[in-house]
Amino acid sequence: MTDSNTGWTVQDSAERYGINEWGAGYFSVGDNGHVVITDPDNPDGPRVSLLTVMEGLRERGLEAPVLLRIENILDHRIKVINEAFTRAMQDAGYLNRYRGVFPIKVNQQRHVIEEIARAGKAFNHGFEAGSKAELLIAMASLESHASPIICNGFKDAEFIQLGLYARKLGIDCFFVVENPTEARIIIEQSRLLDIRPLIGVRVKLSTRVDGHWQEDSGDRSIFGLSTTRLLEVVDLLKEADMLDCLKLLHAHIGSQIPNIMNVRAGVSEACRYYADLVREGAPMGHIDMGGGLAVDYDGSQSNWTHSMNYQLNEYCADIVDSIMEVLDPMEISHPELITESGRATVAYSSVLLFDILDVTDSNPLPNELLKQQAEWQDPSADIDEPRALGDDPQISRLIEVRDIVNPSNLQECFNDANFYREELRDRFRRGHCTLRAMSLADNTYLQIIARIREELPNAARVPAVLQDLSESTSDIYYGNFSIFQSLPDTWAIDQVFPITPIHRLDEEPNRTAFIADITCDSDGKIDHFADPGGQYPTLPLHQVRKGEDYFLAVFLVGAYQETLGDLHNLFGDTNVASIRVRDDGSIHFERELHGDTIADVLSYVEYQPASLLESFRHVAERAVRSGHLTVTERRTIVKSFTESLAGYTYYENI
Ligand SMILES: *Cc1c(COP(=O)(O)O)cnc(C)c1O
Repeated sequence: MTDSNTGWTVQDSAERYGINEWGAGYFSVGDNGHVVITDPDNPDGPRVSLLTVMEGLRERGLEAPVLLRIENILDHRIKVINEAFTRAMQDAGYLNRYRGVFPIKVNQQRHVIEEIARAGKAFNHGFEAGSKAELLIAMASLESHASPIICNGFKDAEFIQLGLYARKLGIDCFFVVENPTEARIIIEQSRLLDIRPLIGVRVKLSTRVDGHWQEDSGDRSIFGLSTTRLLEVVDLLKEADMLDCLKLLHAHIGSQIPNIMNVRAGVSEACRYYADLVREGAPMGHIDMGGGLAVDYDGSQSNWTHSMNYQLNEYCADIVDSIMEVLDPMEISHPELITESGRATVAYSSVLLFDILDVTDSNPLPNELLKQQAEWQDPSADIDEPRALGDDPQISRLIEVRDIVNPSNLQECFNDANFYREELRDRFRRGHCTLRAMSLADNTYLQIIARIREELPNAARVPAVLQDLSESTSDIYYGNFSIFQSLPDTWAIDQVFPITPIHRLDEEPNRTAFIADITCDSDGKIDHFADPGGQYPTLPLHQVRKGEDYFLAVFLVGAYQETLGDLHNLFGDTNVASIRVRDDGSIHFERELHGDTIADVLSYVEYQPASLLESFRHVAERAVRSGHLTVTERRTIVKSFTESLAGYTYYENI
């Protein structure tokens, strides 16, 4: 529990990584220094170690990197969102009900959708579909006919027909009209099939939201009907004698809305549209406020892009109150409320686990170790005798600086270290000093930084430039995963996800590092990390021990990451496992999915593994004919090629 040498405790780790803040009661640090899965409704209940889960997966042949889905957490999210809205309605005296829908685009994976359908049944939680493919998923997956389907996005006649058939099955399937053309298709198709549709209209709100998705709202939003086109749709429905089908108002002002003020403003504005559509004679009865419920990725509870300055209960109460504030004075009855929370439903339940393959550390060595093998000679000088490296003027200056570091001259030593190292680098670039001299200079430089760090706590005042030395001395930890496949948003939109080691949290993490993946891309790295205290370029980590695994986890990755991932360097889908924690603390491995094999990813780029093998056999045969290989060697090599085709695309310890 406590490291006897340093006094470091697991509570210190919890604070260092902010886990109790962003973990939302689902994750914390156990007494044994492992990250554990916890039940927010039963904090004293069983705690399951992620390392134990990882070991269990290995025994089943699922190696890292592996995407872990924790079904309890998904079930819990659906439950808390539904209960929070119901409670907010009861508290406010709201006279209608809430039904949620899950937007399939946020995570289309079958296991996730099936679990949402199963857990959502008790709450009539439905699906939102943005394409024909997603509508097919929704129609086939719903476990209750009392759960709605909301259809957004561009809809052709076939899409409309499918939705009308869902109506025929008794499902509340709404078409949310985004443009007048779509309204015409709906009118036409419903006449043809003689099925009355449920129609909604998506409005473009002028309320601006903070955060990354600012442009989903306001004039530049690519979605929703302008006021003129909205009225065009209303008039089309009137002419077709179908205004009685207009039953829903839809507004989605963006994802990950960090600021609750924006939510309130958006709901109030949407209600104005709602009231006027009622005035136009539409029955209405449903208001759908879209998605946007945020996830506090850094645990700061602020209105920063990756956080949120409100709690779920507040979000629900504010929506309910805002509707009542606008509609009650006009004596318009309360509509059924629908929301489309995607991120807040699925983010928590998935965790990416990966191992560290290698570390480039910034630990200086003792100079003697370098010197022994070092021979230095200034190539420009006409000297035959190799000179001792310590005689080099810049190097001896660096060594002097190292030896005089004290609490009162830290800034000066830092400046000198940079100056002399830069001079030496300059000489190296001009061919005036050797690689070995450069290496000795770099090493001495790191020794100076280490000395400065040691003395920082003794300094009366810490100069600003020294407050964060981690960037100049950070290690690189190489992780067995691909950012582009597993965490595309860190690359595409600078999303931050909480990252921690899943074990050794009873030891002080005394290295600072950034993380590189195994793609050969300079963007394949994570170099911004956030916790409740702010954003940092490095993450504290432990020294990796020889012959021992070091596992890290990236949390809150259940939303948007899976299908946006790509095949950069042909790293494919990772292994996936779904688990469920039982009341007695046992772990049930519910489902497992082996990731792509090399043959799989090759087929995605149009290679046929069989013909690739065939070609390789010819290549090897040619080598036999030319005498480079024996027939037996050819056999071994072809066998190895065949086995590789069936192997995992990630680093394997064989
Ligand atoms: C993407 C999307 C959502 C999901 O938003 P979250 O912020 O993930 O809850 C909901 N509705 C619509 C129309 C969307 O496009």
